[in-house]
Amino acid sequence: MTDCLFCRMVAGEIPADVVHETDRVLAFRDINPQAPTHVLVIPKEHHPTIGALVGADAGLLGDVVAAAHAVAGQEGLVTGDGAEPGYRLVANTGPQAGQTVHHVHLHVLGGRDLTWPPG
Ligand code: 5GP
Ligand code: ZN
Repeated sequence: MTDCLFCRMVAGEIPADVVHETDRVLAFRDINPQAPTHVLVIPKEHHPTIGALVGADAGLLGDVVAAAHAVAGQEGLVTGDGAEPGYRLVANTGPQAGQTVHHVHLHVLGGRDLTWPPG
């Protein structure tokens, strides 16, 4: 059994509030949301960081980004009418960025003003 939290979610051993899934990618709501939309998008295969994923399978990174964009659409953040609210993608990598789960993930954030200082 793996001790990786996100691998255990992929395996169904730990519950996840899944909002989007493909054969290679899983997206689920963050347990401690920082915005009205806060979804984590992961490759089902374990890679610790963005760099590891780029080195192993850059196409899979493309799938993760595409899934993140699809999630933003589901959440109403992409409307295609020029008035869309938009969203932010974040990938914390390494200790100075505050990465706490060492299975690569994109944070999809949106639904409030994310600019600083707030506009
Ligand atoms: P990082 O700090 O590594 O970029 O992000 C890890 C994220 O995983 C954090 O935003 C944290 O709230 C989230 N997280 C940690 N444990 C769990 C969990 O058990 N379930 C879910 N859905 N999210 C989690
Ligand atoms: Zn993992």
